[in-house]
Amino acid sequence: MRAAKPGPPETDRRTDFNQEITMTGQPTALPEDDEPTTLRRIVTADEYDTAYSRAAAAAQAVGVTVPHPALHDAVRGVLAAVGLLTPPPEPDTTDGTCTAQFADDEGQWWQCEMEPHDPSEGHDGGDWGWGDDAPNAVPASRQ
Ligand SMILES: [Zn+2]
Repeated sequence: MRAAKPGPPETDRRTDFNQEITMTGQPTALPEDDEPTTLRRIVTADEYDTAYSRAAAAAQAVGVTVPHPALHDAVRGVLAAVGLLTPPPEPDTTDGTCTAQFADDEGQWWQCEMEPHDPSEGHDGGDWGWGDDAPNAVPASRQ
């Protein structure tokens, strides 16, 4: 019996694409540790609004209405996948904690949960800890 010889799977194209990127000298792999170390550009509010509107229009074009939080998460994830971040949200100041923020690998913004403190101590957002000098960190707006 002879095995069928399927065409190249989709992953082959992706592999070739990655190889091409590698040949240009641009990094293709994430850092080995869990710390995001690559500075990503924060899109402007207008750029985000455009991306969000186009995603909503694309969904509506096929008869799907995506709830805002889900569509925001989808747009955020797509932007993060190509090295872009949504604008950070206004820091929550209701509980009097530090207002420093940080974006993780998936573009999710975290706010420091510590009482206002010396930024040189580093910030703690629960799942993430970071310093003001970390890529994708926004220093506290007030202390
Ligand atoms: Zn802090």
